[in-house]
Amino acid sequence: SAGVAQADPAVNAAMGHELQRQREQIELIASENIVSRAVLEAQGSVLTNKYAEGYPGKRYYGGCEHVDVVESLAIDRLRQLFGCEFANVQPHSGAQANTAVMLALVQPGDTVLGMSLSAGGHLTHGAKPALSGKWFKAVQYGVRRADSLIDYDEVEALAVEHQPKLIIAGFSAYPRTIDWARFRAIADKVGAFLMVDMAHVAGLVATGVYPSPVPHAHVTTSTTHKTLRGPRGGVILTNDAEIAKKINSAVFPGSQGGPLMHVIAAKAVTFGEALQPSFKAYTEQVVANAQALGAVLKAGGLDLVTGGTDNHLLLVDLRPLGLKGNTTEVALERAGITCNKNGIPFDDEKPTITSGIRVGTAAGTTRGFGVAEFEEIGRLMLEVFNQLKTNPDGDAATEASVYARVKALTARFPLYA
Ligand code: PLP
Repeated sequence: SAGVAQADPAVNAAMGHELQRQREQIELIASENIVSRAVLEAQGSVLTNKYAEGYPGKRYYGGCEHVDVVESLAIDRLRQLFGCEFANVQPHSGAQANTAVMLALVQPGDTVLGMSLSAGGHLTHGAKPALSGKWFKAVQYGVRRADSLIDYDEVEALAVEHQPKLIIAGFSAYPRTIDWARFRAIADKVGAFLMVDMAHVAGLVATGVYPSPVPHAHVTTSTTHKTLRGPRGGVILTNDAEIAKKINSAVFPGSQGGPLMHVIAAKAVTFGEALQPSFKAYTEQVVANAQALGAVLKAGGLDLVTGGTDNHLLLVDLRPLGLKGNTTEVALERAGITCNKNGIPFDDEKPTITSGIRVGTAAGTTRGFGVAEFEEIGRLMLEVFNQLKTNPDGDAATEASVYARVKALTARFPLYA
C-alpha cells in the first residue's frame, strides 16, 4: 500500500514542515530531545499492530512470542541501566506512570506531599487541576525564598504535621541536585512511601552524572523522552518485590489496557543506547553545556534561579532586564530559538505571563553542540533580550539577523541527514 506521502499528503506535508523546523531551529525546551534513527524505526514499526495485554509469558492474547522478547529486553536493559530489581516499561507516559504508582500505594482521600508546580514540581505531584490534586489530600512543599533551594526542614515539618501516605520528590524545573537520602529519611520518619519522579534527569542518573534516587526511593518513575533520549513514554522502577507486584497490577489492568509494543521496542533500543559508553560522554557534555550557557546569560545581566545548574536545565529570571516570560518566549521563537516561559519561585506574574524562561541543553547536545556552540547560543539569546528592552514587540531586523545565524549554526549540525 501507499506510504504517507501518497496516502495522506496533508499529514505528510505537516510532518515535513516539522522536520524542517527541527532541522533549522535551536531546540532549548528542557523536556525534549532528539531520538536516533534506530529509535524512530522501532517506534514506527509493525509492533503497533500487536495486542499484548499482560506481561511477558503471561499474556491475554496469542501471538505474543516476539513482543515478549522485545519487552523482556526493555525490562532487562532498564534494570541494568539503573541497577534495580524490578521494572515496568508499559506506562504510556510519565503521567500514566505516576497515576499507576498512586493507584498501587494510596487510596483516594489519603494525604500526599509533593513539590508545588510553582516551585518546579509537576502537575502529577498534587497540583489542583490534576487527578493527583483532586483525588488526594495534596499538601505541597516549595523552595526557600532566600536561595530557591528545597528546604528539607520545611518538607520534614509538613510531613510531620500532615502525615502523608506518599511523599513525592522530583521536578520539571529545578536546576540543582536533590538529597534523595534526606527525602527517604523524612518518609521513614512518618511511615510514608517515597516516590521519586526522575523524569527530567533520568539520562544523567543512568550514567552517574546526577545522583541516583533508585537506592533511596520505594518507587522511582520516569519519562523516557527527556535526557534519556527515547520515545515518549513512562517507566516505573522498584527494588521491592511486594511493591513491584502492586505496580504491575496498577499499570495493567489497573489504569491501562494494551501496552504500546512499538513504543516498548523503541524504549528497548533507547536503553541499549544509554548503556553504551558514548552516552556517558553525552550526559557529561549536556551538563557542561548548560553551565556554559548559564555563564553567558549571567554575564549578560540575567539572574539564574539558584545561581546556576547541576543538571541539563536553567531557570532564567528575566526581571533584571525588565522582560516577561511570555513575550520573551515568542520573540525567541521568531528568531529560531525554541523554549518555554516558566514561572520562577515566588513569581508575581500569572502563569500565562511569568518572569522566566526554562531552557535545557539535552536536544542541542544530541545534535553535537558543545560549549562553543552553547556560548554562541547564549549571545544570540542576549541579542533577542536586549532588543526587547527598547522594542517590546520585537525588532524585525534584529530577530531576522539572529535567525540567519541560527540557521547557519544548525546547518553545521545536520539532523537526520
Ligand atoms: N513528571 C515530570 C517530572 C515531568 O516533567 C513530566 C513532563 O513534563 C511528566 C512527569 C509527565 O510526562 P508525560 O508528559 O509523558 O505524561
